[in-house]
Amino acid sequence: MSRYTGAVCKLCRREGQKLFLKGDRCYTGKCAQERRSYAPGQHGQGRKKPTEYSMQLRAKQLARRYYGLQESQFHKYYVMASKKQGVTGEQLLAICESRLDNVVYLIGWGNSRAESRQLVNHGHFLVNGHKVDVPSYLLRPGDVIAIKESSRDSEKIKAVLESNASRPVPQWLEVSRGDYEARVLNLPEREQVAAPVEEHLIVEFYSK
Ligand code: SF4
Repeated sequence: MSRYTGAVCKLCRREGQKLFLKGDRCYTGKCAQERRSYAPGQHGQGRKKPTEYSMQLRAKQLARRYYGLQESQFHKYYVMASKKQGVTGEQLLAICESRLDNVVYLIGWGNSRAESRQLVNHGHFLVNGHKVDVPSYLLRPGDVIAIKESSRDSEKIKAVLESNASRPVPQWLEVSRGDYEARVLNLPEREQVAAPVEEHLIVEFYSK
């Protein structure tokens, strides 16, 4: 599956939101969205009244980019969410949030979702005692994620843990830093999800 390899700051500027795709840089004055808060390209500063469709499309693209997902994967999650009980948009967000790469980022074991995905790919983590190197692995309540013992001395892992030691962790996750472990307490309710996403627009987009 092809992955976006262009300049990620352009994605934030296109969506008009900080999507925090670059780790530490996102929290500095070098953030491109802060310095040039208009869409990239020749017509980026032009004002056009958004249509209903364009707002739905942008909401979907923003969510996809926020979580770093390809269209096919994101649509698959929408189909999964629409088959679950409850509000489809909220179910969709809960699925995206429960991906292993996203959780690794949220608990501060990766500086960005992209880096977390790479660390998962490199096999640094265990889920319930078993190595899992699939970033899209969906975690469930009660699952325990741990940093593999042989990875704890890696310079990369040590640096990431140090730089994110004080990052707040969402209430639906619990981290035991000394034990290199974290637990999923529950799947997140909407108010526990920080994503700047208007999920009802995504549902409208796909249900046409
Ligand atoms: Fe987005 Fe981060 Fe780039 Fe700012 S620095 S535009 S938040 S990826």
